[in-house]
Amino acid sequence: MLQQTPVVRVLPVWEQWMARWPAPADLAAEPSGEAVRAWGRLGYPRRALRLHAAASVMAANFDGNVPGTHAELLTLPGVGNYTAAAVASFAFGRRETVVDTNIRRVHARAVTGRALPAPALNAAEMRLAVSLLPAGDAASVAWNASVMELGALVCTARSPKCAECPVAGRCAWLAAGKPAPDYVPKGQSWAGTDRQVRGALLAVLRQAAAPVPRAVLMGAADLLPAPAPGLELAAELAAMSKLHALNAPAEQLERALAGLLADRLAEETHTGLQLPA
Ligand code: SF4
Repeated sequence: MLQQTPVVRVLPVWEQWMARWPAPADLAAEPSGEAVRAWGRLGYPRRALRLHAAASVMAANFDGNVPGTHAELLTLPGVGNYTAAAVASFAFGRRETVVDTNIRRVHARAVTGRALPAPALNAAEMRLAVSLLPAGDAASVAWNASVMELGALVCTARSPKCAECPVAGRCAWLAAGKPAPDYVPKGQSWAGTDRQVRGALLAVLRQAAAPVPRAVLMGAADLLPAPAPGLELAAELAAMSKLHALNAPAEQLERALAGLLADRLAEETHTGLQLPA
């Protein structure tokens, strides 16, 4: 959940999620659509499907437990090198090289003397991170946590607090006079994007307790059918009006819906569209 989403937005969803599904087997026992529904508006909802799929693998292959080694973690759907290293390090105390955005920025500034790390993680950065990691398990975990926190709280992207920084005396970027970055990072656009339309479509399906007819979802028909028992019509209508307020062109709506269907975040039955059963 924390990949690409800030802690303040994740926390309430995570708490509800863990109260409902305290163990991987609890999540695996429910349809994947329930994971997408509970994901709420955290964004990048394919992560919900991956978590559900990972819970199913943990239930089937690991006695319902989260595996503790980097190699085992990599067998879980949606888990890549970074997540495997972070879980093995922080949850299981193993010596793993954790490299996230914050750590990369601290390494770039303090060690390499650049304002920003490369646009994408490269082999030289990984070699540097491996070479900096202390030898012992406990020391390596403390190192990973410390550098990550330094990047999150002190050596921030926009306004590094060098005057308060505990490594200021050894920082290559500060010593070099804070040279400007050699590229301009791309901002993440949102308004008007397919991602925004996908999110709005998915919000309608999350609120709907019954399949939503395609013509209604696409804005070709104005009225919703009579609500089924238990249907939260007010919330569904609110989500629907937000979707249609975007005034997305029909082809963009179709493209966004096709993407949701292809990613199995939604499915179409003879009565309409819904979250995966
Ligand atoms: S001195 Fe400034 S740039 Fe260097 S690591 Fe500390 S906060 Fe970052």
